[in-house]
Amino acid sequence: AVGTAQLADWITRYRDAVTAQRDWLTELDSAIGDADHGANMARGFAAVGDKLAAGTPATVDELLKTVGMTLVSSVGGASGPLYGTFFLRMGMSAGAVSELDGPALAAALRAGLEGIVARGKPEAGDKTMYDAMAPAVDAFDAALADGSSVGDAARAAADAAAAGRDATLDLVARKGRASYLGERSAGHLDPGAASTAILFDTLAAAIA
Ligand code: ADP
Ligand code: MG
Ligand code: MG
Repeated sequence: AVGTAQLADWITRYRDAVTAQRDWLTELDSAIGDADHGANMARGFAAVGDKLAAGTPATVDELLKTVGMTLVSSVGGASGPLYGTFFLRMGMSAGAVSELDGPALAAALRAGLEGIVARGKPEAGDKTMYDAMAPAVDAFDAALADGSSVGDAARAAADAAAAGRDATLDLVARKGRASYLGERSAGHLDPGAASTAILFDTLAAAIA
C-alpha cells in the first residue's frame, strides 16, 4: 500500500522536477501559448512545499486537498485550477485514511482525471494534459488488473503518460490558448501534457 509519507514524497519530487524543468516547460508554452507554464508550475509547487513544510498531514485526503487548494490559490493560469481540481478530487476519493492500496489509488487517480474533465471539458486528441493523463490512468488500471504490483502499475502509467505527451506533437489544439493558433499549433508538444508526464514519472519514482 501507498502511505501519506510516500504521497508526500511524490509531491516533493514533483516540486523538484518542475523546478528543474521549468525553462523547458516554459519553452514549450512559448511556442503555442504564453510562455508561463514552467513558471506557473514552479510557483504553484513552491507554495505547496511551503504549506507542507510544517509537516505531512496524517491522512491522504488532508494531504491531497492541501495540495489542490494551494495550487488553485497560487496559480493564475489554466493549469492551476486544472491540477488543483485533480488533487482535490483525488483527496475526496481517498478519504480520511493513512494509506491507499492499489485499487484505492487507481480510484483516486481516476477521480482526479474526472475532475479535470469536469473543469476543462478536454476530449481525447484536443492536445492538452488530458492526452497524457487519460492513457496513464487507463494503464494503471490495466496493469493492476493483470496482477502487477502498485509500483509496476505506476511505472506502466508513467510510460503511457510519456507516450501520450509525445503523441501531442502532431495534434492541432482544440482547448486552451494553443487553440487560438489553429493548425499552427501542430509540430509542438503540449506543455500541460509534458508536465503531466513528469507527474506520473515522479509518482512511479516515489512508490517504486
Ligand atoms: P495558461 O494557458 O492559462 O497560460 P498554463 O500555461 O499554465 O496556463 O497551462 C497550459 C496547459 O493547460 C496547456 O498546455 C494544456 O495542457 C492545459 N489546458 C488548457 N486548457 C485546458 C482545458 N480546457 N482542458 C484541459 N487542459 C487544458
Ligand atoms: Mg501558459
Ligand atoms: Mg498564462
